Amino acid sequence: MASITSSKVTSEKVAALYDAHILKNYGPAPMTLVRGEGSFVWDAENRRYLDFCTGIAVNTVGHSHPHWVKTVSEQAARLVHVSNLFHVPQQAELARRLCEKAGGGKLFFCNSGAEANEFLIKLARLWGRKQSGGEEGRRFRVITAENAFHGRTFGGMGATPQAKVQGGFAPMLEGFRHARFNDAESFREQVDESVAAILLETIQGEGGIHPATTEFLRGIRRLCDEKGLMLLIDEVQCGIGRSGKFFAFEHAGIRPDAIGMAKGLGAGFPIGAGWIADAFADLFTPGSHGTTYGGNPLACTAALAVLDIIEEEELLAKVTERSASWHKSLQALVGKHPQYLAGLRGVGYHAALVVKGDPLPWVARLRDNGLLTVRGGSDAIRLMPPLNVSIQDLDTSVEILDFVFGTHIEP
Ligand SMILES: *Cc1c(COP(=O)(O)O)cnc(C)c1O
Repeated sequence: MASITSSKVTSEKVAALYDAHILKNYGPAPMTLVRGEGSFVWDAENRRYLDFCTGIAVNTVGHSHPHWVKTVSEQAARLVHVSNLFHVPQQAELARRLCEKAGGGKLFFCNSGAEANEFLIKLARLWGRKQSGGEEGRRFRVITAENAFHGRTFGGMGATPQAKVQGGFAPMLEGFRHARFNDAESFREQVDESVAAILLETIQGEGGIHPATTEFLRGIRRLCDEKGLMLLIDEVQCGIGRSGKFFAFEHAGIRPDAIGMAKGLGAGFPIGAGWIADAFADLFTPGSHGTTYGGNPLACTAALAVLDIIEEEELLAKVTERSASWHKSLQALVGKHPQYLAGLRGVGYHAALVVKGDPLPWVARLRDNGLLTVRGGSDAIRLMPPLNVSIQDLDTSVEILDFVFGTHIEP
């Protein structure tokens, strides 16, 4: 069968097919990627890039990790999908291991971050109904943060108060209020009898890598306890080890009532999950929620391989240790190139350099010099290496950044 994947692929040919047949909901891409190994990817012209974009914080264990490839390939040959009409051993085992990390509770598996948040929003409604003695529609609101990102479904959009996300799709799903991130008092002001939950990212990712302070998260936990609200934490981007803890909220020593996960969980195989603390785990009853693909044997095998690799290679300790000196080097770059750089934000490998002006031209210049990054918010370049990145590759990232910021001449 003749196809673009078997004939000689070029970035130009692929771009032409995109132009003809792919919807233009994404901006134009600079090139076509065809291969990956460890912290590197190659484009169709065989140019190599150090990948600190990691498919937007997805490739937790780099590209083509041998253990991941072996277990996923073997599972693909054995059994891929059966639906949730049947039990799946890999789903059971993955749930057990995630409960171990979250501390008890129960899991629901889906396929993406937006779906994980959709699940959390539905959970909030069930909780509100229970709080209202079984009456629906009285207590249902969820408060989220102004600079948040929670996905592109109607639930996710409602939770994401950004014109660039909501624009064109009015009316939004009702039931959301917004307050200022890192300002627990502003959340308190939004609470009344109609509010059922607060939903927060521990480290705002799309918004430009803004970590929640420990004081804020503890204040929100206290507010939720005081008012009978559920605390829902969106760990879709910052979770699965990226901060040096499995869940980023662990840094603050708080316990959420529910957690959304996705991105890094399958390290490239689509899988999302919602975790619920035991006290709330009976709110969903048979038939109340579901998804066809969620937790299928192949997806769960991919996630189990990721957990194996994180544990066997002691990646949480490595992220903490290696990111400390990497952050020092990045901070030094900020001091060295003050005309272009305004600061460093983030925790572990969920980091961003703050630039003066538009970050997009810098993302392009870095790419032209062999480093893939992604814009964060309106002022930052996100740097999100795989958790198993080598010290040498971290050093290389600093060299490329230094070169690009050091040799740029404003036209
Ligand atoms: C990416 C992201 C989502 C949405 O995940 P999708 O898999 O793209 O649906 C939700 N929340 C956060 C914090 C994210 O970073």
